[in-house]
Amino acid sequence: MLIPVADWHAILRSLVRPLPARRLPLAAAEGCVLAEPVRARHALPPFNSSAMDGYAVRAVDVRDADHTQPVLLQVIGCAPAGRPTDAVVGRGDAVRILTGGQLPAGADAVVPVEATDGGRVVVRVHGPVGPGRHVRRAGEDLALHDVVLAAGWVIGPGQAAAAAAAGHADLLVTPRPRIAIISTGDELVEPGHPLNPGRLPDSNSVGLAAQVRLAGGVTSVTTRCGDDAPALRRLLQASARSSDLIVTTGGISAGEENDVVKAALSGSVRFVTVAMQPGAPQAAGLVDGVPFIGLPGNPVAAMVSFAVFVRPLVQALRGLTVESGAPLVELAALVEPHREKTRFLRARWTELGARRVAVPDGRQGSHLVAGMADTDLLLEIAPGHEVLPAGALVPALSLLDASDTPQKVRTTLAHRAATP
Ligand code: AMP
Ligand code: MG
Repeated sequence: MLIPVADWHAILRSLVRPLPARRLPLAAAEGCVLAEPVRARHALPPFNSSAMDGYAVRAVDVRDADHTQPVLLQVIGCAPAGRPTDAVVGRGDAVRILTGGQLPAGADAVVPVEATDGGRVVVRVHGPVGPGRHVRRAGEDLALHDVVLAAGWVIGPGQAAAAAAAGHADLLVTPRPRIAIISTGDELVEPGHPLNPGRLPDSNSVGLAAQVRLAGGVTSVTTRCGDDAPALRRLLQASARSSDLIVTTGGISAGEENDVVKAALSGSVRFVTVAMQPGAPQAAGLVDGVPFIGLPGNPVAAMVSFAVFVRPLVQALRGLTVESGAPLVELAALVEPHREKTRFLRARWTELGARRVAVPDGRQGSHLVAGMADTDLLLEIAPGHEVLPAGALVPALSLLDASDTPQKVRTTLAHRAATP
């Protein structure tokens, strides 16, 4: 029986829930999803400071200054960044101040050095400044206790910098899921090693480990296993102790004697045929309580089924609520759907005038792994009878960018809403 892609998605989704939140140092929290709102521990900026190199003054004292009649002020101190002065600016006083220096008491404006003669004892001011001019006001970015990051946001460079500026060294986040990648097959050798007859480099574990990182996970295990069911069972059990999700490739097809994953896990895991091309054989279940997905061995099928099925699970483990439905892209050439199966076609971006359109690869065999090098995205072609012409819009998964942050998801949805 053929299981529709959406039904298999739902079955897989029921295997995982978001990982428990942990407090992580800012650097380690990068790429993680925030589990609680982050509030400012102090105002930002924390104090009134100068936006210029110049002199902190009372605006009223220089109100009438101009080139012909400069105002002379007594320089009573200096306030570089990080070294505030105790001097109090009274009538006729100035404090030399540098960018980021704390505004001294009594001053309400900064005269840039260019509008003065730069004097160190007495300074001539050649022009007026209004009150507040060139002053960065305390709290103009954030007030104490303002929310700087909302729960559910992904920590990227901007979020990490804002959290640090707001006084945080660590954040409560859903950690990156730890994912075990195990390729199976007696024919596999470490990439770069000599190929004896009948052997082939293990490209799946390399490609899938890269997909794990693209999806925001980390690999706990990346390894190969021969077609030896007891050895695979031991490897799976060991992986379960250090992983939040286990992914295998190969060994799940139609019941041949070397279907090692089937042999190792029959009884505890479901083996199914999904209505898709490539990637029809699929398996899933729990191994010692840890979610397990078995992908087909053919390299294109393995890459496609990771993007289609495993990536959403990684996102669910990360605590992301990603809307279903991939963003739509424009076809550069016609595509024929399959009558019963969803096709996932390798494609690459090209420019057509000012538009970016997706060119389907003419060669789509599931063993043609070198073609992955020229693949930017996977077009999702629903089952049907009618040819989709060039210019049609179809959903697509990117292999360059997991498009998974809530910020990006919102963009995607806005794009979809605007698409007729
Ligand atoms: P299997 O599902 O184990 O029968 O594998 C299907 C096909 O994919 C066979 O031609 C395998 O040699 C190939 N294959 C399986 N695993 C890998 C891998 N890790 N890297 C490259 N090719 C693989
Ligand atoms: Mg095999």
